[in-house]
Amino acid sequence: MRSKIVAGNWKMNKNLAETEALLTELSAKLPDTTAEVMVAPNFVNLVTAKQSLESSTIEVIAQNMHFAESGAYTGETSGDMLLDIGIDTVIIGHSERRAYFGETDEILEKKVKAALAKNMRVMFCFGEELTDRKSDNHFNVVGGQIKNALFSLDASAWSKIVLAYEPVWAIGTGETASAEQAQEMHAFIRKTITDGYDAAVANNVSILYGGSVKPANAAEIFSKPDVDGGLIGGAALVADDFAAIIKAI
Ligand code: PEP
Repeated sequence: MRSKIVAGNWKMNKNLAETEALLTELSAKLPDTTAEVMVAPNFVNLVTAKQSLESSTIEVIAQNMHFAESGAYTGETSGDMLLDIGIDTVIIGHSERRAYFGETDEILEKKVKAALAKNMRVMFCFGEELTDRKSDNHFNVVGGQIKNALFSLDASAWSKIVLAYEPVWAIGTGETASAEQAQEMHAFIRKTITDGYDAAVANNVSILYGGSVKPANAAEIFSKPDVDGGLIGGAALVADDFAAIIKAI
């Protein structure tokens, strides 16, 4: 179901005490909203985050999962392990996973399918590099990332997919895609899904923008018709900033 979503990806930041403190502050400052609000703390702090947010509407999600059921995968976490602690939404395909941990479209397709097989919700990230945009290849790259990892899914599976378009050149750089660039790409993504499936599937999927979203630019980006919210990195680590971004939606 298409809904407005603001999600914070904390990456490898915040220890246990800092996680509790940030969630307490965020809960106190959370604006009234009909949007879904999510946070993705580090794995070792997920249980504590769940406990801290027991009586909150903020959802705790995971930054990653492995595609295997269990076994000899040192350092990895399975879907069942997440479900066991009450987490049923997972980010898959973040550009840092692709760049630093060798996650290819093929691996990501397996991860998406493994999560969906557990009835989990997937926030699937993708986006072009600066060289792709400069060489005017950004639509091809983004279209390919979506098709390669997601187009073997049945249409019905798309109700569990959230997309996050994150141009790599805008992540953590302070450089944001303009609201027009975001809208242009989000419209292209929706058309790609319409062509591959149909308009109903395309119109039901939430497409988030990610890449240096801040309180100062959130409202303009979120005002675009095909932008259904944001995946927020740096600004999600500051309660006032994250709250302001939630307010902007
Ligand atoms: C991200 O890593 O998903 C992200 C959008 O980071 P930032 O907001 O810091 O650019």
